[in-house]
Amino acid sequence: MAIILDGNALAKQMKKQIKAEVEQMSTQPGLAVVIVGEDAASHVYVNYKQRDCAECGIRSEGFALAADAGEDELLALIYRLNKDDNIHGILVQLPLPKGYSEQKVIEAISPKKDVDAFTLQNVGRVMVGDYTFAPCTPYGVMKLLEHYGIDPAGKHCVVVGRSNIVGKPQAMLMLHKHATVSICHSRTPNLAEITRQADILIAAVGKINLITADMVKPGAVVVDVAINRNTDDGKLYGDVDFEAVKEVASHITPVPGGVGPMTRAILMQNTLKAAKNA
Ligand code: NDP
Repeated sequence: MAIILDGNALAKQMKKQIKAEVEQMSTQPGLAVVIVGEDAASHVYVNYKQRDCAECGIRSEGFALAADAGEDELLALIYRLNKDDNIHGILVQLPLPKGYSEQKVIEAISPKKDVDAFTLQNVGRVMVGDYTFAPCTPYGVMKLLEHYGIDPAGKHCVVVGRSNIVGKPQAMLMLHKHATVSICHSRTPNLAEITRQADILIAAVGKINLITADMVKPGAVVVDVAINRNTDDGKLYGDVDFEAVKEVASHITPVPGGVGPMTRAILMQNTLKAAKNA
C-alpha cells in the first residue's frame, strides 16, 4: 500500500512557521481577497483563504462585487489596492463571471502584489526559473514531494493537463528540478501508454477516475491535483481512482487533504514574502 502524502499535516506545519515569522515583523502582512459574483465553490475557497490568513496572523480584507458590477469597477478596485500600502497581496478569485476579461483583470494587478503568480511578468519569471512568487498549486506539489524526500532529478514526470495555472507551470517546476517531463492533454491519443511510463504522475484535469490502476507503473509517485465534486454523493474526488491506485503506487496524495491545503499554504507564504519585499 502506498504512503499517503499528507498535505494537511505539512500545510499546518508551514502555517505555524509563517505565523511565527509574522509575529516578528513590524508590519502586519495584508491580503486583499476579491470575489465577483455568487459562484458557490469560489465563495468556499475564499472563506478557506481568509481562515488561513487568520491562522497565520495575516490581515485579510474581503471585497465582494456583484456579478454585474462590470470590468471597470473591478479594475478601479485593483488600481486602488495596488496603491494601498497596507495591502501586500491581491488575489482575484477565478473564474470571473461572463463579460470579464480574466487576462485583462490579472494584468491590472501589480506584479509585486501578484501572490498567485498569474501576471505575465510572474509567469515569465517561473519559466526562466527566477521567481519571487511561486505558482501556488504547482509549488505546493513540489514542497510536498520535497518533504517526503522525493527528488524529481532524472525521473520521468508525466503531467496530465496543460492549463496556465497548473499543468504548464507544474511541468516547468519539474523541469527546473531536472525531471524529464511529458505533458498530456485532451488531444493525447495514447494517454495510458504515456502515464504508464511515469515515475512521477501528476493529474490535473478535472475528471473523476480518469487515472485508473492499469495506467500507473508499479511504484510510481501519484499526485492528484484535481478537485471534482461528485453530484451523486456530494463528496470531493480527484482524477485518480484512489482506492485502486494506492495498491500500485509507492506514494499518493489524497483528495481532499493532499494538494489543496498545500496550495493555500503557499499563498500564505507568498503574501508573507510580498510584505517583506514591500
Ligand atoms: P483546466 O480545465 O483549465 O485544464 C484541464 C486540462 O486537462 C486541460 O489542459 C485539458 O486539455 C486536459 N484534459 C481534459 N480532458 C482530458 C483527458 N480526457 N485526458 C487528458 N487531458 C485532459 O483545469 P485546471 O488546470 O484549472 O484544473 C485542473 C483540476 O485541478 C481541476 O479539477 C481543478 O478543480 C483542480 N485544481 C485544484 C487546485 C488545488 O488547489 N488542488 C488548484 C487549481 C485547480 P486541453 O488543454 O486539451 O483542453
